[in-house]
Amino acid sequence: MSRIGIFGGTFNPVHNGHVLLCEYCKRELLLDKVLLIPDNTPPHKISPDLAGGSDRLQMCRLAAKQFPWLEVSDIELKREGKSYTYETLLSLKELYPSDELFLITGADMFLTLHEWKNPETIFRCASLIAVPRDSSDKEKLTDYYHQVIEPMGARAMVLDEPVMEVSSTFIRSHIGDSEALSSLLPTQVYDYICQKGLYRKKEMDYQSIIRELMGDYRFTHSVNVAQEAVTLARLYGADEHKAYVAGILHDVTKEIPHEEQLQIIKDGGIILDNVQQNAPKLWHSVSGSVYVRTKLGVTDEDIINAIRYHTTGRAGMSLLEKIIYTADYTSAERNYNGADVMREKSRKSLEEAMIFSCQFTLQNLSAKEAAIHPDQLFCYNDLVLNRKG
Ligand code: ATP
Repeated sequence: MSRIGIFGGTFNPVHNGHVLLCEYCKRELLLDKVLLIPDNTPPHKISPDLAGGSDRLQMCRLAAKQFPWLEVSDIELKREGKSYTYETLLSLKELYPSDELFLITGADMFLTLHEWKNPETIFRCASLIAVPRDSSDKEKLTDYYHQVIEPMGARAMVLDEPVMEVSSTFIRSHIGDSEALSSLLPTQVYDYICQKGLYRKKEMDYQSIIRELMGDYRFTHSVNVAQEAVTLARLYGADEHKAYVAGILHDVTKEIPHEEQLQIIKDGGIILDNVQQNAPKLWHSVSGSVYVRTKLGVTDEDIINAIRYHTTGRAGMSLLEKIIYTADYTSAERNYNGADVMREKSRKSLEEAMIFSCQFTLQNLSAKEAAIHPDQLFCYNDLVLNRKG
C-alpha cells in the first residue's frame, strides 16, 4: 500500500512555494509520491490572467522534472467543466484502490473546505494535510479543523511551518522582474513563461495609453522607436519584448506639462541636480521612469533605467539602455543631418553609433553654450575608454 499526496491547484503558474510544499509534505508524512493536478476551471476563485490549461500543465511538468516522486496528472484538465475535488478523489480511488490518499492544501484553501462541493465525500476518500502560508496560520488552521470539519468526518494534520511566502498572483504581477522572480520560480518554468510571453501586459495597451498622452508626431516617433528597438534587440541578442516596452514608453511623459512632470519627479523621491533643474528637456526621462513604475506598474529595473537614461546616457549602460538610447536617434522618421550614418553605425556596433551621437550632442550643446549633464560626459568617456580595438 502506497501513501499518495494529492495536490490540486490552478498553478497559474506553479512556483517554488508549491514545490517546497510538496517536499515538506512528502517528508513529514512519509509519502511515496505526490500528484500535482492543475485544475480546469477552479470552482473556488476567479483567476484573472488564467493561462491555458496546456501551458499550466507543461509548467507543472517542468517543475516536477527534478523530483522522481512528483508526478503531474491531467485528470482535471481532461474533464469538462468545473474541477470539483470530490470527483477527482473518486476517480483516484478507483485508480489506486488499495492506496492511502492525502489531500494537500495551503491555508487559504483548507479554511474553505466546508464550502466545497460534497465535503463529506472528500473527507471519506482522503486524509487532509494543511500547510500554513504565514507564521500566524497554524492556530487558525487547528481551530478550524477541530471546530468545523472534524465534526463533518475530516481527518487532518496541520503542519507547523509555512514553506515560502509567495503566491502565483505575486509572480504574475512581477513578470519581467527577473531579479525578483529568480528565487521564486523553477528556472525552467521562468524560461517557459518568457518564451511564451505569458502574463505580460499586451503591447496594444501601451500604445493606447501613450496615444492619450501625446500628439501625432510624438506618437509616431514612439511607435518607430519601439520597432527600431526590437530590430536592434534581435541584432544584439537582447530581450525583444523589453526593448518594445521601453521603446514605446520612453517619451511617455514628454508632453505632460512641466509643472506636472516636476511633481511626478518629486513624488518619486528624486531630487534634480543643478544641470537638470536648468534644462527642462531632461525632465521627461526622469519623470517617465517614475511614471511607468508608479502609474503603469512596470517593475523591470532595466526597462525603467532605459527610460531614465535615454536622453543623457550614463557610464556602464546595460545592453537595453544602449538600445533605447540608440533607437531614439535611428527611428524611421528621423531625418537630421547624419541620421543615415548613425543608422549604418548602429547595425555594426551600438557603441560606435553612440559615440557618434554623443559627439553630435556635445558639439551642439557647447555651440549653444548650454550646460552639459555629467552623465552625458560619463557616457561618452565610458564608451571611448572601452572602445574595442
Ligand atoms: P493565486 O495567487 O493565483 O491565488 P496560489 O499561489 O495561491 O495562486 P494556487 O495554484 O491557487 O496558487 O494554489 C494551489 C494550492 O497551493 C492551494 O492549496 C494554495 O493554498 C497552496 N499554496 C500556494 N502557495 C502556497 C504557499 N506559498 N504556501 C503554502 N501553500 C501554498
